[in-house]
Amino acid sequence: MLFIFLGLILVQCSSVPLSGRSQLSLVGNNRVFPMSFDQYEQVKKESKLVTGTDDARMVKRVGTRIQRAVEQYFAEQGEARYLDDYQWEFNLIEEDIVNAWCMPGGKVAFYTGILPVCKDELGVAVVMGHEVAHAIANHGRERISQQYAASTGLSVASILLTGTSGPSISSELIMQAAGAGTSLGILAFSRKHESEADKLGLYFMAMAGYNPEEAPKFWERMAAQSGGESPPEFTSTHPSHSTRISDLNQNMPKAMEYYRASK
Ligand SMILES: [Zn+2]
Repeated sequence: MLFIFLGLILVQCSSVPLSGRSQLSLVGNNRVFPMSFDQYEQVKKESKLVTGTDDARMVKRVGTRIQRAVEQYFAEQGEARYLDDYQWEFNLIEEDIVNAWCMPGGKVAFYTGILPVCKDELGVAVVMGHEVAHAIANHGRERISQQYAASTGLSVASILLTGTSGPSISSELIMQAAGAGTSLGILAFSRKHESEADKLGLYFMAMAGYNPEEAPKFWERMAAQSGGESPPEFTSTHPSHSTRISDLNQNMPKAMEYYRASK
């Protein structure tokens, strides 16, 4: 009985690529991603998309370059299938807020308000790497699973043993899970998720041939400009600024290996 029980738990967890951390997944990509893609279309319809400008082209170029580097990395690891359900897309939205986000399955949005902090293509690559990392680590799906477990008041084990069918997914939940949107009321990613996105993001930008040494400089600029007004995804307090910078520097040697290998 114990073994069957453990087996069930394992089935409901998956592991985060590159980090190896085990994460709760009470719902499959086949349920989360289609909802996410619908929701992204909705956001596009309701937003002022920027197209045909140098900035819009830059966001797409950086996104595509990082996407290809990640695909190449997974292929080399024999894990190309991990990315099967992803449908990458990179858009720039005209709105003066300092934010960017990525919905589950690879749907990225940058707001024009973050571009001055990015400063140039390298800065865009720092943010893009971080957002792509949230998607690859499937933080959105993990948050949906955690919220479901919390909202039912049941332990994961009892959800599994009673055969509950899993969370119903609303568009609000998708937005929340992605830290997406313009309001300050949206949920911040946990410190654990932010740190993981920083680390993988550093690797991904490096794999795509962008110098990862730009990342600490970008976060310095972000900390300097944000007076507590930016949405949770990019507040300077979470993780704390100094922790963020020292963690980035700690991961820099590995990132530089990826960077040199990309040349
Ligand atoms: Zn983040």
